[in-house]
Amino acid sequence: MTDSKPVIVWFRQDLRLADNPALIAAAKSDNGILPLYILDDINAGEWAGGAASRWWLHHSLLRLQESLDGRLVIRRGDASKVLADVVAESAATAVHWNRCYEPWRIKRDSKIRSALQDAGTSVKSFNGAQLFEPTAVLKGDGSPYKVFTPYYKNGCLQSGLQPRKPAAKPRGLKLLEHDNSLTVEQLELLPMNEWYRGIEVEWTPGELGARQRLTEFINKGLANYQSGRDRPDQRYVSRLSPHLHFGEISPHEVWHAVGAVKGNEEFAANRDSFLSELGWREFSTYSLYHWPELPEQNLQRKFNRFPWRDDAQGLHCWQQGRTGFPIVDAGMRELWQTGFMHNRVRMIVASFLVKNLLLHWRHGAEWFWDTLVDADLANNSASWQWVAGSGRDAAPYFRIFNPVTQGKRFDPNGDYVRHYVPEIADLPNKYLQSPWTAPEDVLSAADIELGRDYPQPLVELKASRERALAAFKSLTPED
Ligand code: FAD
Repeated sequence: MTDSKPVIVWFRQDLRLADNPALIAAAKSDNGILPLYILDDINAGEWAGGAASRWWLHHSLLRLQESLDGRLVIRRGDASKVLADVVAESAATAVHWNRCYEPWRIKRDSKIRSALQDAGTSVKSFNGAQLFEPTAVLKGDGSPYKVFTPYYKNGCLQSGLQPRKPAAKPRGLKLLEHDNSLTVEQLELLPMNEWYRGIEVEWTPGELGARQRLTEFINKGLANYQSGRDRPDQRYVSRLSPHLHFGEISPHEVWHAVGAVKGNEEFAANRDSFLSELGWREFSTYSLYHWPELPEQNLQRKFNRFPWRDDAQGLHCWQQGRTGFPIVDAGMRELWQTGFMHNRVRMIVASFLVKNLLLHWRHGAEWFWDTLVDADLANNSASWQWVAGSGRDAAPYFRIFNPVTQGKRFDPNGDYVRHYVPEIADLPNKYLQSPWTAPEDVLSAADIELGRDYPQPLVELKASRERALAAFKSLTPED
């Protein structure tokens, strides 16, 4: 260690050098910088990253390590203890980090802040992850918004709060050497089996990969985003979600890069539609911050009495993409094979689980947590509660997606289903989304025997819909 008073920059969900406020502030001081990453599964408890997230983290840390010239200090364990150790080992006088909003992190970070300050170490935290800080957007009476549209329009867009302009990567970082570090491999983030091989070909984790993804989206997806965003068979969405989750790119950079693209009125509608999805990301984090029970409890308490079913076999079929409903199965297989699922299909498979199968949304959220590369406590919990109808600003429970009509509408040529459910690819479009309606000769011509080559439908759509509506009606109004 060469510097007597280093600043520790504690990287967490901000695995980038550009537009990283904690790093930029440290770079402004004359002191050397000790970049640190801690894998803290202890405080995370049940919210430790799932398998797909860990795959991503492994690669993202490798990229960060490269861009920090191998100086990233990597440790694992209880972050409060590890930080105290690294401060002592390095004689650091300051610790910087960008704020995170999961309840367990807030709790942990506030304890760490107090302990470090009590020991005489300066602590500075910054906003690196949100366009609008959750504490800055409140209604006139000081309470948080419960509904997205007024939150986004009045609370954010018309409030005078402006997402800050992104800053470039600081030049000439004085990165210090520290010999007590693990390697990324020693964190053992990769699963033992080779399931992630499919994921590997789809994604390029890291800051550079994030920026390339943004450029590709601006060039190829943005102009058709508004209508194209509902088509899982096409590539009009940005697929930036895992990059945003791990902070490989800041939402500010995305917001301003997209906002700067000029075009006619039609183009502006596409642009605004995309920006409002970033707004949904803000709103999810905002909701998690103000209602930390979001991942565990129904925000509408009346759902606590909902008569959820217990059906391990049904859950297993859903997870494996073997429900007999092609669009549902395609989505679940896309998830397993690539670590991602298109948003429209996420809504369809989620509705199928909580409404047609009548299984608790938490089962779905848990599976997504383990298998999504973009698994995000705020977005995942808020979205599941949205679909289930139990969230604050949720889709009404009685709006039940019909997977057959959804499939026909949003995968009109069947390309998405044929790609992920190849065993029924030879069915004509007319029957592709509902193979059980195909006459015997059509099935034989496609060489399909239902129940052998592809499952019979797990439920009868009309009956399961009525069962869901009856369950919903049995709830009494809000407590
Ligand atoms: P784009 O359409 O290109 O949107 C740009 C960005 O806006 C996304 O990267 C994302 O950060 C944000 N965004 C878009 N849609 C939403 C939304 N509905 N809610 C919040 N933010 C949004 N998103 C996650 O990031 N992590 C999750 O764990 C997650 N779980 C979900 C579970 C369910 C049941 C559902 C219905 C949705 C979930 N989403 C989740 C939201 C959404 O599906 C993804 O953010 C989106 O599909 C990511 O693809 P994209 O980057 O191409 O999105």
